[in-house]
Amino acid sequence: MMQYFDQAYLADFADKLVAIQHNDLGFRLTGTESGRRAADLIAAEMRHLGLASVRQEAFPVHAWDFQGASLQLHAPPKMSFKATSFAASVGTPGAGLTATVVDVGPGTAQEYLGKNVRGQIVLVHFDFDKLPWLGSVAHEAELHGAVGVVVYYINGKAQHESGQALNVEDGFLRQTIPIIHLCRNDGEILAGQLAHGAVEATLHCHVTNNPQATGYNVIGSIPGTLYPDRYILIQAHYDAWFYGYWDNAIGVAGVLTIAKAIIASGYQPRYTLLFVSPDAEEFGQPDSAYGWLYGSQKLLQAHPEWVGHLTCAFNIDTLAHRWQQGIQFVGCAEMLPFMRQVMAGYEVQHFPLKTVGVAEQITPWTEVYNYVYFGIPTIQPRFKTEGDAIRKLLYHTQFDDASVVDLAKAAEILQLYGHLLLQLDQQPIVPYNLTARAEMMEQSLHGVDLVTVLGAEATAWQETFMAFKEWAAALDLRQNLTPALSYVGEGVKSPDLTPALSYVGEGVKSPDLTPALSYVGEGVKSPDLTPALSYLGEGDKTPDLTPALSYLGEGDKTPDLTPALSYIGEGVSVDQAEAFNNYLGQVVQQLITASYYVETDFPDLTHFEHFLWQREWAALDKAIGALQAGQAAAAIDALTAQHVGVQGGWYALQVSYPVYHRHIRQSDLTDWLWAEGRVILLHDVWIELHHLQDKLARGVTNFNPEITALSRKRATALAGYQASLKRLQAVLQQVMQLETYKV
Ligand SMILES: [Zn+2]
Repeated sequence: MMQYFDQAYLADFADKLVAIQHNDLGFRLTGTESGRRAADLIAAEMRHLGLASVRQEAFPVHAWDFQGASLQLHAPPKMSFKATSFAASVGTPGAGLTATVVDVGPGTAQEYLGKNVRGQIVLVHFDFDKLPWLGSVAHEAELHGAVGVVVYYINGKAQHESGQALNVEDGFLRQTIPIIHLCRNDGEILAGQLAHGAVEATLHCHVTNNPQATGYNVIGSIPGTLYPDRYILIQAHYDAWFYGYWDNAIGVAGVLTIAKAIIASGYQPRYTLLFVSPDAEEFGQPDSAYGWLYGSQKLLQAHPEWVGHLTCAFNIDTLAHRWQQGIQFVGCAEMLPFMRQVMAGYEVQHFPLKTVGVAEQITPWTEVYNYVYFGIPTIQPRFKTEGDAIRKLLYHTQFDDASVVDLAKAAEILQLYGHLLLQLDQQPIVPYNLTARAEMMEQSLHGVDLVTVLGAEATAWQETFMAFKEWAAALDLRQNLTPALSYVGEGVKSPDLTPALSYVGEGVKSPDLTPALSYVGEGVKSPDLTPALSYLGEGDKTPDLTPALSYLGEGDKTPDLTPALSYIGEGVSVDQAEAFNNYLGQVVQQLITASYYVETDFPDLTHFEHFLWQREWAALDKAIGALQAGQAAAAIDALTAQHVGVQGGWYALQVSYPVYHRHIRQSDLTDWLWAEGRVILLHDVWIELHHLQDKLARGVTNFNPEITALSRKRATALAGYQASLKRLQAVLQQVMQLETYKV
């Protein structure tokens, strides 16, 4: 594919997309004219390239039509600050909103004590270490009677060295009072003015909210020649804050450039290749905990036929910034061994780091989360610089323009990504690795005493898990053997067999294996297979394959392995390969949907459900222990510690109860996330924390009421923990009982 990759086209299309602008700062906004024009451009380009079945799939969306914002100071010196706002903030009337501006520091609840902000505009010096998100300061200000909010950031984002970076985010907002953002320089100037006394100002926020707008996901394809009903998908969202060159015009251009190269090469894919550009990634739903990733959710809801049949979704969301030091691909555990195998011999050209990184990571900040939500394996290029500098400097600001991306670096990553996609297309059997999933589960329980959690049921749980591990290893072995055979089925000869078998060969070396392999050897009819299979006995040993192989060594023909071995010599037909792939698709779909829950605490990592319950239970347990020892401060620390306290605990002391309660959505899980939410019920510890803080200040040492209340919550956490482990056990049992593909 390399020689067909057109770097000039990549740059050209990214420029064309960025040229579509909604206002003087850029923007391609879902449900608006600019969004529609971007979708039309991409669809026209897909047709021009020769993709099949090009279409724009409409879906209902909330449009946040942002035209601009400003703050004008009345009294001398008269100044006017250019501003942005946050989706889906309300706008101001045409004449703007005129009021006195009051400085409320970081905008925490304590800052409002003794201040009267009724009918006034507040200035917040937003501190990402103190409060979780913009919606919390707007809600707090509204509770105290303010009519508008002006924020600038003292850290975290929009810290461009010019001091002029404006930011837009999905605000996680209740649609109440208008909120606008000033760059750091202007925020500091305004704060300086306020230090000399109250300032009268007019706030303009030119916004129209349209809850009944239409968004468009764009799709084109190259139909598969051998397996048209099995898919490989590559996608990049086209909507944008500001010019959105790095995020994500370069991604959309990348998807199209890969499509162009494949078409130009004349390559005929085995599977149907889908090229997709979703809308409404940045925003699509107001008044929700996570209002982003909306368009791709609608895309997946509209395509149930993809579930179990989509081998992998390749996502691109931001690509190759100038400061990037290396290449890294992240994704589902199941895909990683295959990716490592493909990347193994690759020589990096345009980056200082010479090895390609491959790691497990699914973040709910990009659309990969939508795919795993539906049980579809997914990967994407990601690369973090030191301290995540680029995000702090210019992510979601007006500085995200063409100067951010190094096109040679982008081209290298895209060529490698396209190569990976075509390698995947050439696998007759989808190369999922289930042992990698089993290992992730094992890690999630590292250091856990199952008997403490599950009591008498711990043994049965452990047995199920061990059976799953062995079953997974056996299925992995079978998957690795089968491609070689299906190559035979498709009439392809020996040169193609070597990579498939050397993959197996890497895992194999055990004296026990010899009889098994000689058994395999005996079954081989094709002369082309024999030398390749004899390679099996020469590789190295890895722990992953040992259980499956020791089965073989003992002559135990497990139901899973016997058919795999009996394939040998018979070859696997296209139909048989398809049936096996569909079986693997079902297995992986069930495992993936059981594996990714969102930890709803910045930075919102994903974990197994039981891992989240364990965190809650451990934090509550530690706090109770501290209170029993008379240590209120230690108990507060245990509940509020970032990453290990209860979820939402770290900001509970900074906000009023309604703000906290809304943020953690304790009682209402249905609108947590755009996709109904794979999150756990959180523990509301606001009252206990405030009581403890108060007792600490007054020197009160009777903590019995707090111990009782927290103990009740600990019991809930333990029950959730137990139930989640049992749900996982049921999934493992179910997966092992799925009807196995038979020859
Ligand atoms: Zn993006």
